[in-house]
Parts: sequence; C-alpha cells; structure tokens
Amino acid sequence: MNQQQTVVVVGGGVIGLSAAWQLARSGRAVRVVDSGQRAASWVAGGMLAPIAEAWPGEEELLELGAASLARWPEFAAELAAASGLPSGLRTEGTLVVGVDGADRADLDRLAAHLAHVGRSVTPLGGRELRRREPSLGPAVRRGLEVPGDLAVDNRLALAALRAAAVNLGVEFCDGRAVRVRPGEVELDEDVLRCDVAVIAAGAHSAELHPALAGRVRPVKGEVLRLRARPGALPPPSRTVRGPVHGRQVYLVPRDEGGLVVGATQHDVGFDTDTTLGGVRDLIADAERLVPGLTEYALVEASAGLRPGTHDNLPLLGELEPGVLAATGHHRNGFLLAPLTADAVVAELDGREPPEPVRAAAPGRDTDTGGPPCRS
Ligand SMILES: Cc1cc2nc3c(=O)[nH]c(=O)nc-3n(C[C@H](O)[C@H](O)[C@H](O)COP(=O)(O)OP(=O)(O)OC[C@H]3O[C@@H](n4cnc5c(N)ncnc54)[C@H](O)[C@@H]3O)c2cc1C
Repeated sequence: MNQQQTVVVVGGGVIGLSAAWQLARSGRAVRVVDSGQRAASWVAGGMLAPIAEAWPGEEELLELGAASLARWPEFAAELAAASGLPSGLRTEGTLVVGVDGADRADLDRLAAHLAHVGRSVTPLGGRELRRREPSLGPAVRRGLEVPGDLAVDNRLALAALRAAAVNLGVEFCDGRAVRVRPGEVELDEDVLRCDVAVIAAGAHSAELHPALAGRVRPVKGEVLRLRARPGALPPPSRTVRGPVHGRQVYLVPRDEGGLVVGATQHDVGFDTDTTLGGVRDLIADAERLVPGLTEYALVEASAGLRPGTHDNLPLLGELEPGVLAATGHHRNGFLLAPLTADAVVAELDGREPPEPVRAAAPGRDTDTGGPPCRS
C-alpha cells in the first residue's frame, strides 16, 4: 500500500515541513533532513497575496495562488489543532497604495487586469484610506482594497508546522544532502534509504538532481523587522504595500506592535549579506507610506534567498519514479504551502493533483523546449 511508504523530505523550510506534516497525516513514515542553511522561510514577510501580486502574463500563478489561498483557513485551523500552537494566520486583508502619478498608473493597471480576470478590488482615495489605516501619511493619495488576501506570521507558522509534524512521529535529522536518487538520499557522510524522496531544499534544490540543474536560482531579498515603541502610532492593522516611486515595498503587521518591512529583490547568487543600501531604501519607502515609523525600534535586518524559476511558477511533481520536486516557490512559498503539500500527497497516492498544479509540472520546459532559468 502507498500509505506504508517511507519518505525522506530534503529541506525543513515551509515547503518541506508542510509536505512532511501532510504526508505523516496520510499515514506514511517521514523523515526530514535539513542542513541548517539560512531558510527563506525564516526571513519571509508572510503575505498570502495572489490578488495584490497579480500581473498580466502570470495568470497561471494567479490561479495557483488563489487555489492555495482558499486552502489557508482550513490548513491553519488544522495546524493549530495538530500543533497546539498558533498558526499565525491573519485575516485583515491588504491595501495596495501609491504615491506619485506613475504609482497610481500602476494601480490602475492592476485594477484593470484584475477586472479582466474576473477579480474585483475597491478603489479608494486618500481620505478613505486613512479612515481605514490612520497611520498612512499624506503622500498616500490613492489605493485599492484587497480584502481577500491574507497574511501569516512566518515564524509562528514554522514553529507550528514542526510541532505538528513531530506530534505525528516525523523524524528530523541534521545533514546536507548532496544527491537524490530513486530509493536514496545521499548525505555528506551517510545515505538515507527511502521509497520516495521529496526535494524541498529551496534555493539549493538545483544541486540535488540533474532534472533541476539550472532551473532554480537564488533571488536575494532583504527585510526589516520593526516594533512600535510605547507612545508611537500603532502600525497598520492590514498589510499595506506600495509602489513608492516605482519601487515595491510592503508592511506586514505582526502581533504586539511588530511590523515586517520588505523586500528588496536581487539576482546576485548565494549572497545573504544585508546591505546598507537595501536597508536605506526599505526605510525610506516605508516611511513615505507610514511616517510614524521613525519612532519604531529596528529589531532585525536580514536577507534570504527565494527559490526562483524562469517563469515564477514552482516545480511540483515527479522528476523520476521515487523522486519528487516541491521547490521553486520564489516569492510565494507561504502562499503555496497548503496546495503544494496537497499535491505531494496526491502524487504519492496516485491521484490527480489539484487542477492549477498542472501548470507547475516539472516537465513543462523540457516538454516545450522552453528556456531554462536565468542564472
Ligand atoms: C525577503 C523575502 C520575503 C518573502 N516574502 C514572502 C511572502 O510575503 N509570502 C510568501 O508566500 N513567500 C514569501 N517569500 C518566499 C518564501 O519565503 C519562499 O518561497 C519559501 O520560504 C520557500 O520555502 P522552501 O521551504 O522551499 O525553502 P527554504 O525556506 O529556503 O528552506 C529550504 C531548507 O532546505 C535546507 N537545505 C538546503 N539545502 C539543503 C541540502 N543540500 N540538504 C539538506 N537541507 C538543505 C535549508 O537549510 C532550509 O532549511 C519571501 C522570501 C524572501 C527571501
């Protein structure tokens, strides 16, 4: 029976943990091996925002994201019950705002595109925006309300996923996988035998299997973690995101006055230094939206590597019998975690994965002769 399979998941970020938890729920014996590298999942902003991030040409990603967003409330409730910990899900919604004329033109394009694909958002003027979020500054004159997009505290979710997995008997081991083949995961100094291996090593996945070579690249992102000090204006209750003079910035609230400000985006290889320039730009853009941030404490500045692909869709599915890919989630690993885990379990059960996952089949480039990802 499939349910008696042993599975090794390579990578303990949000994707590996979600897959491991759901595979253990399906009755399989699961082991997670992780090398302790800096996970993008630890750094992420945690927006679950397929609508606010929709863009012409990325319709398949929108469908995939919307399907996974719809799974989040149930996924979060089950996660909280299974772990005994908060899932970190937040349901306050999102405001997309703009500052100058070019930003407002971007918002108009986004609204028109969303209308075209049958998803409506509410346009708001400056006064209506400040009625919803009094901390927004006078530079913000136009925006869109996107109530359906959610957010999650990434670090709470990771703790809950790990606890839920442990409660179902998932084993965790430290180690660096160097190669994945049918029936075995080769580590630096050991070999783990299994019926099925799942590659969920984020930006490092390309090194592990020839079918992934050149197809997952690191895309660096820097973020800040702030905290409202006593007497400072409280942070926005919803996610607020710009363009600010053409540059993307977002502010995602956390409990107890916390706020995550992100994110830069650079194709610079495996570099996880946080740069002064990145921090400066994030602060400048965030303050333009919420001037009161000047009174906040800077708690952390960090960088992570998004696992990018050439078309921004993940790679989900079988690479060869006994080896699955669950990687390449780029900007959307938290958003896509529930559907990814569903797809992994469906694949091992021999069932069809959820319909939007078809677009993420790992064979899509080799089938069509499409371009490999940029390095
Ligand atoms: C700045 C920033 C902001 C982001 N904001 C959002 C957001 O708002 N919403 C959203 O949905 N997504 C966001 N993302 C994207 C999201 O974080 C990623 O898509 C997601 O974390 C990918 O998860 P993962 O588990 O595939 O990879 P990771 O989180 O990178 O985890 C990979 C794990 O694999 C391990 N590993 C690597 N190589 C090996 C090996 N050889 N052997 C064993 N283990 C290995 C690592 O130690 C790590 O623990 C953001 C990312 C960044 C960097």
